[in-house]
Amino acid sequence: MIDQHVIARFVERLGTKAVLTDPDDIDPWVHDWRGRYHGAAAAILAPASTAEVAAAVGLATELGVPLVPQGGNSSMVGGATPPADGSALILSLRRMNRIRAMAPDDNLAICDAGVILATLHEAAEAVGRRFPLSLGAKGSATIGGLISTNAGGTQVLRHGTMRALVAGIEAVLPDGSIYEGLDPLKKDNRGYDIKQLLIGAEGTLGVVTAASLRLVPAIATRAVGWVAVPSPEDALSLLRLAEARLGDTVEGFEILSDETLGFVLGHIPDTRSPVGTRTPWHVLIEIDHADHSEPGPAARLEEALAEALERGIAADATIAASEAQAEAFWRIRESLSESERAQGPALQYDVSVPVARMPAFMVDAAERVQAQFPGTTASSFGHLGDGNVHFHVRAPRGTRDGPAWIAAQGEAINRFVHDMVVAAGGSISAEHGIGQMKRAELGRLAAPARIGALRAIKAAFDPGGLFNPGKLIPLPGED
Ligand SMILES: Cc1cc2nc3c(=O)[nH]c(=O)nc-3n(C[C@H](O)[C@H](O)[C@H](O)COP(=O)(O)OP(=O)(O)OC[C@H]3O[C@@H](n4cnc5c(N)ncnc54)[C@H](O)[C@@H]3O)c2cc1C
Repeated sequence: MIDQHVIARFVERLGTKAVLTDPDDIDPWVHDWRGRYHGAAAAILAPASTAEVAAAVGLATELGVPLVPQGGNSSMVGGATPPADGSALILSLRRMNRIRAMAPDDNLAICDAGVILATLHEAAEAVGRRFPLSLGAKGSATIGGLISTNAGGTQVLRHGTMRALVAGIEAVLPDGSIYEGLDPLKKDNRGYDIKQLLIGAEGTLGVVTAASLRLVPAIATRAVGWVAVPSPEDALSLLRLAEARLGDTVEGFEILSDETLGFVLGHIPDTRSPVGTRTPWHVLIEIDHADHSEPGPAARLEEALAEALERGIAADATIAASEAQAEAFWRIRESLSESERAQGPALQYDVSVPVARMPAFMVDAAERVQAQFPGTTASSFGHLGDGNVHFHVRAPRGTRDGPAWIAAQGEAINRFVHDMVVAAGGSISAEHGIGQMKRAELGRLAAPARIGALRAIKAAFDPGGLFNPGKLIPLPGED
């Protein structure tokens, strides 16, 4: 545990308000969202300005104190949980929660790193714009955390991940210097793109303190459809048909299996299947228009779905008749994780493969896991158009002790699934990052050139290895 004399130095530098030492204040922030990782920290540093972050980082570097940058602590891979031995302090950005400027004419928002995603959504809406990225943890996740994990969600198909939505970044680098890159330059060829290095860096290269973020026009009208399809191949054909007929108005395109739909209907109150036909797979599709011009999104979607039915790509389809019904369709999608949890213990993977290979991967991977680990059932759901699905392997029916099953089988199943992903040319982390959960698997599976480059960049930015130790970068011996 870090010595109290060291904590006193931080209090001296930052003031008592910016150094939390009460165990009750610290405890909620040393466990990860899923309750899998448990850390310890003698203090949480909570600066309220970029200058205070720089002061905290400068002192940490001087004293050799490791720091774990933290936003909303909603990481799915234990990315913001400090080490269990108390050897690091948490550097929380939550007090830096000011929207510095809204510039609707430039389609830009400039936010402190600690602004919560839902707050940004509201602020953008108030000026007739929207920030087109959303996810289940939007009430907790912060701009800094979203940037540092290059977060995605259900709108990536149209608007991209955070890499596409961040126009500029301000950050404090491990030597305490402030990188001032908030200017939203469309063209900037001054060598390496520092902004993109910091996006997805999981707090290992410094602390993001603010960002310029791209906004898009608010939605004027939308159509949400539910389509029963025979196979993932048909789902992909439907996506390509929709893109051809509806252009870039396709805002959401999510696939799920009929079995998964059954879990929602079984466990989530007040849900019902949007279509009568129960094919093995289903698609949720959303079309958005920024104006009220005719034909509107419902008419255009109807035409595209009629063609899909005619061509046999779809077996049944319906378009939500009201906003309430549209919300009910989305509620099914948003309840998938909860209903899977209610179904029983499972191992969850967030993987990507090239889009064209995804339909075959979804079917083959499930069959192969079930054959290799008898009694398990596997299926995937998610962002087919991004080549990214959440692949879940459920424990054999009747398994009562989930943690014991994971302890006995988890590593073997992890390796089996990740090997299949790599063989299909994919990534073991599509959305959530590497954190501490996937670090060793990254080391086992990534090409030496990738690991070498990660380590070299880390060493160049953070030669003392003080920023988020134990996360992302494979340890010696793990590769
Ligand atoms: C219910 C739920 C649904 C989710 N759905 C999605 C989804 O659909 N798509 C998706 O991509 N992700 C999803 N996530 C995970 C998502 O990555 C996180 O919610 C979010 O990006 C992390 O933001 P945070 O502020 O909570 O960061 P934290 O969890 O606090 O930190 C995450 C990582 O970023 C680093 N970090 C945090 N702030 C900073 C900063 N200011 N500077 C430098 N490093 C920093 C941390 O050290 C850590 O490595 C989901 C999570 C939950 C709990």
